Amino acid sequence: MVVIMKQGYTRQELEHAIAEMERGGVKVMVSHGSESTILGAEGNAANIDIERMQALPGVERVMRVSEPYKKANRKYHPDDSIIQAAPGVLVGGKKLAVFAGPCSVESEEQITAIAQAVKEDGACALRGGAFKPRTSPYSFQGMGYAGLDLLEKARAATGLPVVTELMSTDDIDYFAEHVDVIQVGARNMQNFDLLKRLGKVDKPILLKRGLSATIEEWIMSAEYILAGGNEKVILCERGVRTFETFTRNTLDLSAVLAVKKQTHLPVMVDPSHASGQAWMVERLSLAAIAAGCDGLIIEVHNDPVHALCDGQQSITPAQFRSLMEKAATVAACVGREV
Ligand code: PEP
Ligand code: MN
Repeated sequence: MVVIMKQGYTRQELEHAIAEMERGGVKVMVSHGSESTILGAEGNAANIDIERMQALPGVERVMRVSEPYKKANRKYHPDDSIIQAAPGVLVGGKKLAVFAGPCSVESEEQITAIAQAVKEDGACALRGGAFKPRTSPYSFQGMGYAGLDLLEKARAATGLPVVTELMSTDDIDYFAEHVDVIQVGARNMQNFDLLKRLGKVDKPILLKRGLSATIEEWIMSAEYILAGGNEKVILCERGVRTFETFTRNTLDLSAVLAVKKQTHLPVMVDPSHASGQAWMVERLSLAAIAAGCDGLIIEVHNDPVHALCDGQQSITPAQFRSLMEKAATVAACVGREV
């Protein structure tokens, strides 16, 4: 249940409305938005008398909420959430956030060179996997902690905050201390132990959509993190599995619109994993901006042919530069900037 207060309600009226809801056995979340103040019922609101609530002074409107997600729901929080990925780096505002870098950290020279290149062309954070979820146990699994050290070196050299994937609950404390944005990969979107633990961490979480997750399942995974108390959740659409085999996945841009409508969380798009093909990345990025995403996460490699992971979908720094120039033009058409 959601209770919307009238403009100019008094403190007493607010307290009265909260008390009435609590009497019905729920916990009340108060959200002071730019347009209105909203009271959200956490828990089972079946015992609250909706007509009685509606008649209270100061109450504008009472709505039952059918969605199973509460904290992520835009009905409880009408304003867009803007998440600080790192000092000075916001995701969800007018300016689009662009995270760029290789699929995997491979060496100090590689990560530092790519970090410098993408920074020059306007990336606001460096991506790079150190712990890689690979389909085959015989494929490169990432450099692990040594890779995290190299990300920190690249951050020191460029000032770019780092975004990297966490796979195990064992590594949470280390990540919380050494990483700026913790990525939960598609394969772990429903690792509920991981999500619960991340609810207790004071770091932004980039939550990728699962390979075959519905929009509601994806939002419910965000709800796990929010319910634990961590409100810094950024969603990331990275393509879903369909019958199509031409592309690695099928980029679901309608999901960007859906989650922006249903939730207040920012949503980024990963055109690299969605398509699996470098030549598609620029156009899909522009389409994602036109669809209203809040940012992009793009795989960039200085030597894609020899990349240890996902070379076929990685663009070069020169291609990234061209993409960023076009992105600025499309962003301006939809009232955003890069
Ligand atoms: C990645 O970002 O390198 C990655 C493995 O992505 P996803 O979890 O979306 O497959
Ligand atoms: Mn990758």
